[in-house]
Amino acid sequence: MHGQELMNLIKVPIFVKIIKEALSLVQEGPCWISATIVAINTTNKDWFYKACRRCSKKVEPSIGDRYECNKCGHTHSCAALRFKMEVMVYDDTGSMSLLLWDRETTQLCDDDEIT
Ligand SMILES: [Zn+2]
Repeated sequence: MHGQELMNLIKVPIFVKIIKEALSLVQEGPCWISATIVAINTTNKDWFYKACRRCSKKVEPSIGDRYECNKCGHTHSCAALRFKMEVMVYDDTGSMSLLLWDRETTQLCDDDEIT
């Protein structure tokens, strides 16, 4: 995946920070860091996962092309895809490793759920 595509996945910035500020954050929370992605940890095969479309819990691939959520029991013909990417970023103030989560579930297909 190229950097530009990656940036397109993450849509609305919440707070723009430089890395120096981000590193000194005492409180965890969403923030947007304006920095250059220098590397994506591709050794981590778990950079995306399939999630329940009702409650967002991770679902395991099950029989055939059906997914059943262990939490809410919802059955899907297709699961939502959520991203969890580990990247290295840098700017003028430093560099850091980040875990990126997509905040909006990407729908793999339209609403043809099986209930
Ligand atoms: Zn569920």
